[in-house]
Amino acid sequence: MPIFHECQRCTACCRWPGQVRLTDAEITRLAAFTGLSESDFIQQFTRLTTDRRGLALLDKPDGACVFLDGENCAVQPVKPQQCRDFPNLWNFPGFEKICHARPRLVPPEEYEHLIRTATSRTPPPPIPNH
Ligand code: SF4
Ligand code: SF4
Repeated sequence: MPIFHECQRCTACCRWPGQVRLTDAEITRLAAFTGLSESDFIQQFTRLTTDRRGLALLDKPDGACVFLDGENCAVQPVKPQQCRDFPNLWNFPGFEKICHARPRLVPPEEYEHLIRTATSRTPPPPIPNH
């Protein structure tokens, strides 16, 4: 059975060093959500990725994501796919030492549903009871 990691919203992944890469579509959504033009959003909230091939969210001086607001993501409805997909669709060796997501063995059908719910902006309808 597959293992689904259930996020506990500890926000550790919003605080550790790294970069949240942004696609053009994500910049468009984030700019609209923050009420800024895309060029103003890029100026205020992004930086070059380390490989200089794209843009990533800016960090605060302490290394946390610029959109971490206390214990919450200030752009939750439009947060980037990279944030949505961790830790189920991507992670790194030893991530469990920092991430508090609870691993659960689930049937394949439930796993697919949980993944769609966790990683999409619009959650799919609930699985009907048989
Ligand atoms: S955009 Fe939101 S979820 Fe993603 S790293 Fe920043 S605060 Fe965390
Ligand atoms: S994915 Fe992990 S590190 Fe990020 S908020 Fe959820 S439990 Fe915490």
